[in-house]
Amino acid sequence: MKNESLSKEEFKEKLCKEASNKNINLSDEQLEKLYQYKELLVEWNEKINLTAITDDYGIIVKHFIDCLECTKVIKNEETFIDVGTGAGFPGLVLAIFYPNKEFTLLDALNKRLIFLEEVINKLNIKNVKIIHGRAEEIVRINNLYQSFDASVSRAVAQLPILLEYTSPYVKVGGKCIVMKGDNVEEEIKLSNNALNILNLKINDKYEYSYTIDNEVYNRVILCVEKCDDTNTRYPRNYGQIKKKPL
Ligand code: SAM
Repeated sequence: MKNESLSKEEFKEKLCKEASNKNINLSDEQLEKLYQYKELLVEWNEKINLTAITDDYGIIVKHFIDCLECTKVIKNEETFIDVGTGAGFPGLVLAIFYPNKEFTLLDALNKRLIFLEEVINKLNIKNVKIIHGRAEEIVRINNLYQSFDASVSRAVAQLPILLEYTSPYVKVGGKCIVMKGDNVEEEIKLSNNALNILNLKINDKYEYSYTIDNEVYNRVILCVEKCDDTNTRYPRNYGQIKKKPL
């Protein structure tokens, strides 16, 4: 299965099947957009470092299906910020799934955002905005305090640091959606102080797994509710966050 190169029809068929195994239904239009996204990802990855996963089946399962698992915890939220989106995971995949919700993709690395601009232009995606900069700075520079119903993020930072980056963007009553591997319990133990100071509460832990070549990957999505305003002292600057995580 690994490293298998699929034709366009085979790719879409496999993606559709893997999604429906997870009770996620993808339309023809969504399958076509995800296929084109994959083509651009592989093409651009030869010039700039976007992903270590380059085989078709890996992209289907470890990127697309993995990101689509967030749909299990997304309810009525309409506006999202993906903090540390990289090559668009999970934010761009979710924007393709939810054409009527609004997604802002934020990253500190501009070359990845140039790739994302190309994808949204070529695929004619209308519900995505892109912002270049560091999460802990952009929230003030662009005046985005408490502006989104939810944040989403995958593979960006340890939980206490990530919550300081993301929760200031989220409205009171909204949530930080955090995609993590199976060592999440350790990170949760380290996050008590961050949860208190940032007025957050872990409401839900959605666990899932996928298997590739007999290897099982256990994953968790945390839903962290924002219970009250963020003190405007937060986020602190990068030096302070790194030196003394909450
Ligand atoms: N979320 C993507 C994924 O799961 O494939 C990318 C993960 S990559 C390991 C981490 C990304 O987060 C990088 O693109 C990096 O530039 C970005 N990042 C890390 N810290 C950041 C910060 N403070 N503000 C904005 N982007 C950040």
